[in-house]
Amino acid sequence: MEPKDLHITDLFKQFAEAQAGLLRQGHDQRKGSASTLLTQLLHRFPLESDTSQLRHALVDPYFPVDVLVRTLFADVGGMRFFISKRRPELVDVLIGELRQWCTAFRRIQEDIRAHYDPDTITCIPLDGVKHQLPTDQWCTLCGVCCQIGGIPPEPPTTVHYPERWHIYLAGGAMDNQQVCPFLFQYFGESRFFCAIHNVKPLACRQFDQQDCRRRLSGRDLHLNEPTHS
Ligand code: SF4
Ligand code: SF4
Repeated sequence: MEPKDLHITDLFKQFAEAQAGLLRQGHDQRKGSASTLLTQLLHRFPLESDTSQLRHALVDPYFPVDVLVRTLFADVGGMRFFISKRRPELVDVLIGELRQWCTAFRRIQEDIRAHYDPDTITCIPLDGVKHQLPTDQWCTLCGVCCQIGGIPPEPPTTVHYPERWHIYLAGGAMDNQQVCPFLFQYFGESRFFCAIHNVKPLACRQFDQQDCRRRLSGRDLHLNEPTHS
């Protein structure tokens, strides 16, 4: 099927795969494919809307494309229900949520640059260079524990958050927040890190290895997840 005929969910998934592949390997064929799919994706937004911020967010090496594939664009199932994200009536909702996500992502980056040091706020400098992520720790950076609707936005003592971070952390960055918007992806790989690791809220600092085991044994209701590494 041509990209222009795809449901927004399939279009986003194809874009995510091409973009993640491009960031991981960066060869020309993927570049063309990712670019074509991005153009099609941006065409789905209302003509009068400014898509430049969306474009910047979607091609950013830290944009969590895989997280959105496995939450926003993933079917949801439970004992007695199933919600397909390919329903025609969900198109406008999904487009709106994708816009909200991109906006939050860009604002968090702006805030980090304005109020903190992007070189030291997390485990790697946020300068677009592929610095090595830490490996000497029990956390594998799978990102699952940050797939939550919200957390108490209480910063460590001596740290002050920009006003909107309190809202974002508490779950108000978008209408249907399923993942913390501070969770960044590492260059298209299945590795995710907290963009504000060194100033993250107290609740996140207290999350330990036992909590991690409990969280991973529960997983979530979403049915499809990316399989590449
Ligand atoms: S679920 Fe556990 S391993 Fe995965 S990111 Fe959270 S702390 Fe790390
Ligand atoms: S602030 Fe960081 S550690 Fe806490 S939920 Fe968000 S991404 Fe995860």
